[in-house]
Amino acid sequence: MHDDNVYTEETLFLDVILPVPIPQAFTYRVPRDLNELVVVGARVIVSFGKNRVMTGLISSIHNKAPQNYKAKYIDEILDESPIISSHQLWLFQWMADYYLCNVGEVMNIALPSGLKVSSQSRIQINPTFDSPELLSAEEVEFLNTLEKNDSLSYDELKKFLGDIDIAKFVKSLISKHAVILYDAVKEKYSPKKLKKVRLKRVYEGQEEILNLIESLEKSSKQQEVIMTYVQLIPFHELHEKNQVGITKKDLLDLGVSPSSYKTLIEKGILEEYELTVSRFGEIRKDELQGIHLSDVQERVSNELLEKLGETNTVLLHGVTGSGKTEIYIDLIKKALDNGVQVLMLLPEIALTTQIVNRLRKVFGDAMGVYHSKFSDNERVEVWKGVLEDRYSFVVGVRSAVFLPFENLGLIIIDEEHESSYKQYDPAPRYHARDTAIMLAHKVGAKVILGSATPSIESYYQAKEGKYGLVNLSERFGDAQLPKVELANIREEKARQKIKSDFGSTLQAAISQNIEKHEQTIIFQNRRGYAPYLNCEECNWIGSCHQCSVSLTYHYKEHLLICHYCGHKEKTPHLCPTCGSGKIKSVGIGTEKIEDDLNVLYPEAKIIRMDLDTTRSKNAYQQIIGEVESGGVDILVGTQMVSKGLDFDKVSLVGVFDADRMIYFPDFRSGERAFQMLTQVSGRAGRKEKPGRVIIQTNSPTHPLLKMVIDNDYHGFYDKEIIERERYNYPPFSRLIRVTTKHVDKTLSHAAAGTLAQRLASKLSKERILGPEKALVERVRNQYIFEVWIKLEKNKLNIAATKAFIREQITEMSADKKYKSVRFVPDVDVV
Ligand code: ADP
Ligand code: ZN
Ligand code: ZN
Repeated sequence: MHDDNVYTEETLFLDVILPVPIPQAFTYRVPRDLNELVVVGARVIVSFGKNRVMTGLISSIHNKAPQNYKAKYIDEILDESPIISSHQLWLFQWMADYYLCNVGEVMNIALPSGLKVSSQSRIQINPTFDSPELLSAEEVEFLNTLEKNDSLSYDELKKFLGDIDIAKFVKSLISKHAVILYDAVKEKYSPKKLKKVRLKRVYEGQEEILNLIESLEKSSKQQEVIMTYVQLIPFHELHEKNQVGITKKDLLDLGVSPSSYKTLIEKGILEEYELTVSRFGEIRKDELQGIHLSDVQERVSNELLEKLGETNTVLLHGVTGSGKTEIYIDLIKKALDNGVQVLMLLPEIALTTQIVNRLRKVFGDAMGVYHSKFSDNERVEVWKGVLEDRYSFVVGVRSAVFLPFENLGLIIIDEEHESSYKQYDPAPRYHARDTAIMLAHKVGAKVILGSATPSIESYYQAKEGKYGLVNLSERFGDAQLPKVELANIREEKARQKIKSDFGSTLQAAISQNIEKHEQTIIFQNRRGYAPYLNCEECNWIGSCHQCSVSLTYHYKEHLLICHYCGHKEKTPHLCPTCGSGKIKSVGIGTEKIEDDLNVLYPEAKIIRMDLDTTRSKNAYQQIIGEVESGGVDILVGTQMVSKGLDFDKVSLVGVFDADRMIYFPDFRSGERAFQMLTQVSGRAGRKEKPGRVIIQTNSPTHPLLKMVIDNDYHGFYDKEIIERERYNYPPFSRLIRVTTKHVDKTLSHAAAGTLAQRLASKLSKERILGPEKALVERVRNQYIFEVWIKLEKNKLNIAATKAFIREQITEMSADKKYKSVRFVPDVDVV
């Protein structure tokens, strides 16, 4: 026994990172007999507060007892060795400092939830219970069951108690002091098991098996089971293969009698066992394909390698369809041959489907895939795979940057300009590209950024010589860049007096394409049927009761849905204000486009890809598969269809409405619009088919559209960078936004105002903008105000300035007046 109050040299304390939004570290004490077992980077279970149990990560081990509280003991150690890499603790801290959040919040996002344990209520008999006379007959029966099982979880109770009100039943037992409830912790990850069956070892020999079959002469059904088994594993292989056996399912699927099967198990002739298997299908080595680069690609690949010798980060500016993936593959292979690990980041799941298929053909099972549509168990498997060195190459989305690589040599960030690399909510509001570059810098890895439309920030770094720059300006093979035309939608409508929102140019082009059996993509960055409903009599507009936005009309579900808070309501038949029946939908979403297309081209097969049609796990794959197989004439979708997809037969892309993108009130809207239009145009014309792009607009003279038509990235960049410099926007400054949220509008505004003043007092007024109302002023009844902080580069000590901002937020959050206000900092807002 150790004395709780005496600390000796041997008393160990742990600083533990816990997934809570509180800035300080939490110190726990190690029971002496566990001293030898604690290592930095391993998980421990600790109690936190009165009755919460949590998984934490050991961030340091030391002898310093905390000053102002008595350290609790840890409850359990979950790992013998670290589950994160040595650099990760550093990265977590860097992110917390840089993105103004807490290290616990970083850990919470970084670890797949399968690595965090949950606490689960279990019940057991109260050992001091001695009043059985209080119990009903049912309760007595239940206690007998409980005694046999030691303890039961709530889920297990259901099995024993059936349909009764379990909570009430248990409550009654607790009130009689017959049982006690306690929290047990349980690992959420469970490896996938396969039920397998094999012959008991004594029957493995040829003679033995024949004797066995003979001995079952009288029970023909059992004999059949054994005969079927030896069909699946032939005699002469029995000796080597019996131990592996076959799956129970395979055997039963062949129609043998399940009850005879059971008898054979009971008799000890067959035995069942469980095999832990990978959740990912396996691919045979001899099915793997090589790659063959074109001369141009070869040259570019070499140039990239050369530049990586000079700088750590290189930007590959390669037009759509130039075959950047093949170049990545070449470089990944070379890196793997050098014995280092490789990480490839992709911005979104929609994009991963095709690229992963392509990479899978080259790398097979040596490649791990990590994304958010995977189940927890699948994610833990990849995590462990990296830890145990089964995967030296992983392709994944944003959060893959947290995987526990120990020997990372190369990070590839495809479509580096994509804003979905930035996490919006919850904290850490990190940019995966920037984080990856930081990580690479720390561990000495190289970074390749790839894009047909690089972000202004990255291109600027390249021009300044901080990044290397490699250009690839031709498409692979004989493919040409598509021809982009504008359709002046206002003029078309006036001239033709058409009601439909499809201009005649686009309509004719779609008809032609259907006749030629070629495919079309129609892009509209707005889901649902229509952005709002409007009463023609009184001008009522359906809007969300808890957000300051209109409700989007969804036709198929016949619902009005808020795209900010998810609120849904039935579509009214009559105007809720004046009772008129003249309600019409205004504006156009993907669902309406799909509907209109069905009317215009009744013979065509039309498919839609947007958030609403891709909620299930395999939805993307199915839609993309259908388009690839050629069974689809028209694919309608939101920005999901604009990115990275590569379809042979798409020869026409229609942009339904370019104007909303161009005129969006944000300093990045020009950049976004140029990228989006160029990317979506890039889907047209692969392989031998030349592509055509039709952009519908009301402002055909807009200079940005001309640059899209000319595929003039440089012209676009030159113009944009001048604007950025003039108004001191990134890359010339860093932008931090702090939003305040509260149900009381005045309070939220006052909090933002006070914060702005405090910040200005030290940072000067010029650097602070606001408070301003957010573009959407109210979401979920919370009023949102913003304070913008613009910090010019190279003049300020950024780290100290951030610490100052954090301090101000912390102080205000502690102030009685503003305690209930939420302050949300977002660094490098995109
Ligand atoms: P990007 O990502 O640059 O837009 P992709 O990597 O999608 O371009 O390549 C465009 C098309 O060209 C794809 O269908 C791809 O399979 C094909 N391709 C590119 N390079 C090669 C190559 N070396 N060998 C065979 N096919 C290639
Ligand atoms: Zn009305
Ligand atoms: Zn809402």
